[in-house]
Amino acid sequence: MDGVPGWKVPVSDAEIPTRWLQRFDIEARERASRSRTRRIEEPKGIDFCSNDYLGLRLDPRLMGAAARAALEFGAGSGASRLLRGTSPLHGELERELAAWKGTETCLLFNTGFQCNATVIPALLNSGDAVFSDALNHASIVDGCRMARSRGVHLGIYRHLALGDLDAQLSNWRRTAGKAAVALVVTDCVFSMDGDVADLPGLLALCRKHEALLMVDEAHSSGLLGESGSGLTEHQAVSGQVPLVMGTLGKALGSFGAYLACNGILMDQLINTSRGFIFSTSLPPAPLGAALAAVRIAKLEPWRRERALSYARRIREALGLPQHPSAIVPVHAGEDARALAWAAHLQDEGFDVRAVRPPTVAEGQSRLRITTGAHQEEAQVDTLIAALKTLS
Ligand SMILES: *Cc1c(COP(=O)(O)O)cnc(C)c1O
Repeated sequence: MDGVPGWKVPVSDAEIPTRWLQRFDIEARERASRSRTRRIEEPKGIDFCSNDYLGLRLDPRLMGAAARAALEFGAGSGASRLLRGTSPLHGELERELAAWKGTETCLLFNTGFQCNATVIPALLNSGDAVFSDALNHASIVDGCRMARSRGVHLGIYRHLALGDLDAQLSNWRRTAGKAAVALVVTDCVFSMDGDVADLPGLLALCRKHEALLMVDEAHSSGLLGESGSGLTEHQAVSGQVPLVMGTLGKALGSFGAYLACNGILMDQLINTSRGFIFSTSLPPAPLGAALAAVRIAKLEPWRRERALSYARRIREALGLPQHPSAIVPVHAGEDARALAWAAHLQDEGFDVRAVRPPTVAEGQSRLRITTGAHQEEAQVDTLIAALKTLS
């Protein structure tokens, strides 16, 4: 490589101070079967672990739309949204998503992580409160922690326990300042368990306590409801939840995220959400793909019906409780057991992955099986047979 322009000697470990090297507990992680690796290879085996629920990631209509968008509008967006980074495609996708979700307007974010992590703190000030389900996604957890670091009260309520939330809201209100406000945040479909929130119940509590509800449709957008818009539609509360966040990178097969809301909240966030303001906006290609994906999701309900029916079939075969989602957790307990199960299924030709702490709680390692429209019924049945042999 010597002599190639730009070739450099890599930074050696010797450049990292010893006290820093001691900080990295790589061996302890390995001993505990906890180390994670990124596999840089084309994934092998039939996909039963991605979030490509509608099988759109490799759909030629999305790939073509991405390519055309890049050819017409460029490879990058060049700037953040409030500078030069808003193209006609941003506007078109925001209008399309708002219409689908039944909200006045919609704001695009670069990732769901960025949206949750920066919208939650942007809405709250010192003395306010945020209440979060114990099993919410890491990005919601980080948004809540960021708010807490600025003097916001953080209440974590037991998973799906509306009684606990009700009590926490009452207790907080008793000591809160007169003008203090509360936000309640929940996943719609919980990403590691595949169970779902009770949105009408949460809305009733929020009305009772004058709190604002924010929901995360990362695993329900495209999958649930008559037009596929998500759990808000499935539970008949479209147009009632003030903040509906979702991602474009899962069922919609593209990349990015959105927050559907009304104009007042949008104005507030455009002026305060640091993830919206201080980040280069989404480039044209994923926007073009997402526009195609929303239209396909609405027009091809067989995709979500298929994904959901496969998940229902696996849960039924394994005697697991039914939920309206395409995520099926198969509990192993110990990390090593979950890893062995995943390795066995991979040998059988299924790309199934183990999920371990800290993604799930200690002693709750599991296989996280996901279903999608790209799978064949026979493949699902072979997987079920293989799952039944695990012990
Ligand atoms: C994946 C996920 C996110 C993050 O979305 P990205 O666009 O992948 O950053 C947020 N919330 C939930 C529940 C998720 O599963």
